[in-house]
Amino acid sequence: MQNFINNYLTITDLVVLLITVGLITVITLVSYSIEKKVSAASPFFIRLGVHILESAILIVSILVLREVFTTVNNGKFMQDAWLYANAQIAVSFYGFLILNNRLVELVTLALPFLYNPSLNVTRLDSPLWPLFIGIYFVLLTTVDYAYSHKDDMLISSYKYTIAQTVYGMSWWILLWIDYHFNPLQILISMIFFEVFMAIFRLTEVRLRASFADYKDLEIKANYDALTGVRNRSNLNTRSKELFEEFKQSDELGTIAMFDIDHFKKFNDTYGHETGDEVLRHVAHLVERELLSRQGEPTGELFRYGGEEFIIIFKNVDTAESARIVYDIRKTLADIPLFINGTKLDVTMCFGITAVTKSDETTKAILERVDQYLYQSKNNGRNCVTIEGETYSYDNLKPAVAE
Ligand code: GH3
Ligand code: MG
Ligand code: MG
Repeated sequence: MQNFINNYLTITDLVVLLITVGLITVITLVSYSIEKKVSAASPFFIRLGVHILESAILIVSILVLREVFTTVNNGKFMQDAWLYANAQIAVSFYGFLILNNRLVELVTLALPFLYNPSLNVTRLDSPLWPLFIGIYFVLLTTVDYAYSHKDDMLISSYKYTIAQTVYGMSWWILLWIDYHFNPLQILISMIFFEVFMAIFRLTEVRLRASFADYKDLEIKANYDALTGVRNRSNLNTRSKELFEEFKQSDELGTIAMFDIDHFKKFNDTYGHETGDEVLRHVAHLVERELLSRQGEPTGELFRYGGEEFIIIFKNVDTAESARIVYDIRKTLADIPLFINGTKLDVTMCFGITAVTKSDETTKAILERVDQYLYQSKNNGRNCVTIEGETYSYDNLKPAVAE
């Protein structure tokens, strides 16, 4: 046991282990930060730049590890080679899985020829060269499989473990061809490799969980839990942002506010659950209508409170927003909500107003549109008030048709 500890667990080893964990953490953080900003839809040159950057990160990590290793071993390279090799195998496999692009894949596959260039000549002289080629082929297949099943790898620990084991085993056989370690040493190294990778997997899973928590918080803070649309606190920030944009440019802006008519009736007749269902139904259909106008500049939907919602339209004048409101109302009529076979008659009142240069605050605009909504209510509900003029949906139709 003492012998084992002396041979396998020294301070030097601990330093290498910690540096390796550090590198893995950096790789993970960089990959996540990039992922947030760059997607498959980003321009080609941006993606290429990212791929080059990611490959550079992997190469630098491998070089850093080499430098650290020779430094802590007082320049001696072969001492504790098993640990060094394990760390390198772990970083290369891990980096490849996390960064996961074709360029990084190429770097990963080039490593058996790069880590000690002088061996490329001696390998050809060795009678073991067919084994080298065979094992290299296994490595290539594993890396390519892992590349094309990235999501599987990250979710299924079983596939991940198999890929990692085959990858580690292939590497250790390749190293054996070059260095002829004794088989027991290789077996122990393999076991350590699995332990190594388990530690990194844990680090990564933790990191991923905290990223997910953060995203969750962001969603909770900005979106309404019941309907899934943006909430009031989001409206406060977003309306101020948009208001600044409107003021600084010549863009058109329109605000619509709507409220479900006699909403309390649904709660009182069918229960609170049904009331919730009505809110979800309306929010969903309005969002759908807004999204269906893809390519056109349309609106962002917010739940203002209770059964009141706001839509901020960008680059849309009041006539165009009236047209959209008309379509929303039509969609709602075409796709009614049924509760236990009973069709619910859901209608709503709208107020619509344009943002003007003379508007000083968002509060003033919201008060104005609220007043128009109130005017719609007073005019018998199920209607729309645009800048103080009230229309039934039927009256809106000729205006919309123009
Ligand atoms: P009006 O036509 O004048 O708008 O009448 P109304 O019944 O729609 O409006 P009122 O303001 O009188 O009632 C709104 C009700 O909405 C009162 C409140 O209990 C209910 N409500 C608010 N938030 C929720 C919610 O999240 N779920 C459900 N089910 N009901 C809600
Ligand atoms: Mg209402
Ligand atoms: Mg209300």
